[in-house]
Amino acid sequence: MKIKAAVVREAKGPFIIEDIELDEPRADEVLVKIVSSGLCHTDLVARMQFLPIPLPGVFGHEGAGIVEKVGSQVTKVKPGDHVATSFMSCGTCVNCKKGRPGWCTEFRRLNFGGRRPDGSATMKKGKETVYGSFFGQSTFGTYALVGERSVIKVPSDVPLEILSPLGCGIQTGAGGVINTLKAGPGSAIAIFGIGSVGLSAIMAAVVSGCTKIIGVDIMEERLKLAKEFGATHVINSGKSDEVEEIKTLTVGGIEYTLECTGIPKVFRQAVDVLMMGGTCALIGVAPVGVEVNFEMQHILDGRTVKGCVEGDCIPELFVPQIIELYKQGRFPFDRLIKFYSLDQINEAAEDSEKGKALKAVLKMQ
Ligand SMILES: [Zn+2]
Ligand SMILES: [Zn+2]
Repeated sequence: MKIKAAVVREAKGPFIIEDIELDEPRADEVLVKIVSSGLCHTDLVARMQFLPIPLPGVFGHEGAGIVEKVGSQVTKVKPGDHVATSFMSCGTCVNCKKGRPGWCTEFRRLNFGGRRPDGSATMKKGKETVYGSFFGQSTFGTYALVGERSVIKVPSDVPLEILSPLGCGIQTGAGGVINTLKAGPGSAIAIFGIGSVGLSAIMAAVVSGCTKIIGVDIMEERLKLAKEFGATHVINSGKSDEVEEIKTLTVGGIEYTLECTGIPKVFRQAVDVLMMGGTCALIGVAPVGVEVNFEMQHILDGRTVKGCVEGDCIPELFVPQIIELYKQGRFPFDRLIKFYSLDQINEAAEDSEKGKALKAVLKMQ
């Protein structure tokens, strides 16, 4: 079928809206009429080609829409169902079987390979192959072919416009607190980097009953937002020493930290500030090859450093839980969203890069 999609043709090049052809759904695929798609940092990283994804390509991996057609083996959804989309996993490796799809051993190939698991491409323009299957989906278009494992059925009484960011950015921040750190009632947590992921983490810390929630950033307006979303304390790390301040606030060290910037210096601080037995979860993505140093004696005192991909969650379970919290007024993630049309995708990307949009969401229809 003919669709309209945002195609990237060269590294660092613009998104170009083009008419292209999308394949029919295979047995394990779902054709989704995309209503909205969030724009995530990873889409911009893919455009820069920091991840070697084949071009020309269509990105987008936070979709929400309506099922149009399903493949012969699909049982999870039927035409007309409302769905959100999340990352792809194989379902058969050890980590998938243990309920940890974010650590799927096939993760890179399935999410960044530009093709279906069997190696075929889902899109073309004339005779030219257009690479897709980005995170098993490619949602920067009017329709997307989504692998069944990437599809999450969502309730039809919540607008699809707002649901797209749940499948990556929001589940990552919220899952970092709830699944990776398991920060419980009465605990203290510091969140480094207050973008949409960091703010999702703050909302999750509130829901989890953390009594001390410390937001750290260099932008005053982000810190103001952190307070609005439930941070009990904020620290401007451009103006004061966050390690000393957190130690003062927590009597010598904090139990949990979440690193959302991907900056080695910040990661080190998020570990230095831990109390004995404390845990730091790393969400921020640094370019391949970047290293960081820790003091060995500091780690020896029972401290843990843990990596976190996609909030360590099973999207099918976690996303509906966040939606339920949203309906109860306890997880107002919709406040992060700034809407754009598909035609405005380059503006949305620029606003995201400059910090003018916390979470850019494209409306497709
Ligand atoms: Zn797997
Ligand atoms: Zn993402």
